[in-house]
Amino acid sequence: GSANLKNKTLVVTTILSNPYCMRKESAIPLSGNDQFEGYAVDLIHEISKSLGFNYKIQLVPDGSYGSLNKLTGEWNGMIRELLEQRADLAIADLTITFEREQAVDFTTPFMNLGVSILYRKGTPIESAEDLAKQTRIKYGALKGGSTAAFFRDSKISTYQRMWSFMESARPSVFTASNGEGVERVAKGKGSYAFLMESTSIEYVTERNCELTQVGGMLDTKSYGIATPPNSPYRTAINSVILKLQEEGKLHILKTKWWKEKRGGGKCR
Ligand code: GLU
Repeated sequence: GSANLKNKTLVVTTILSNPYCMRKESAIPLSGNDQFEGYAVDLIHEISKSLGFNYKIQLVPDGSYGSLNKLTGEWNGMIRELLEQRADLAIADLTITFEREQAVDFTTPFMNLGVSILYRKGTPIESAEDLAKQTRIKYGALKGGSTAAFFRDSKISTYQRMWSFMESARPSVFTASNGEGVERVAKGKGSYAFLMESTSIEYVTERNCELTQVGGMLDTKSYGIATPPNSPYRTAINSVILKLQEEGKLHILKTKWWKEKRGGGKCR
């Protein structure tokens, strides 16, 4: 049923990831929600204004999005925070997946994306197939994220081969964050490509003019806000997301954080 959110204080779990949630630069020490800025921070602000609730932003302690340990049946990351009732909402670049949907609920999507490849400009690599048929250039993905899971679970032979190659690579090609993946590509002199979500690639290639998206998207999916199962807040939040979408507000936020803020629009 619908719930009255007025004057409630919700705990929002999130993760540092450009440009969704970033630490604000400041000469004076900041505290509470004021420490953070970004697309997800603006999104939760808009939703809270519309429904009249207060919120407290908390970074997920283990720095993970959320993956299921199939041996123990336990989740980590933001999904775990929801399941253990330490948070009411997870708002981030959190991908809606079948596996996660079994454990938590997702709202209506607020952004669409697909897996693609971040690499250096001006190389003969033009697609995932090009990467798959060679071994000199290493490639990897964020550890424990939905991109790694996409390759792990794919029934498509090219992607299965890419997964075996990634798993067997030493040193590991998996990264602890998207930022680490970007840095490996930027410093790798062409020796490393990073499998990353198209929206994040777009943010990077607006700012690092040596880097580019190689090929198209390997799948299509969306980000949504996650809640514990049967959260009374989900229906109300769905309505606000649809309204923000229809008003063009989500588009304005995307332009603000991708093109305008923090050195966007610098590569042409
Ligand atoms: N959005 C992904 C997730 O929710 C994290 C980034 C990635 O896996 O590329 O797991």
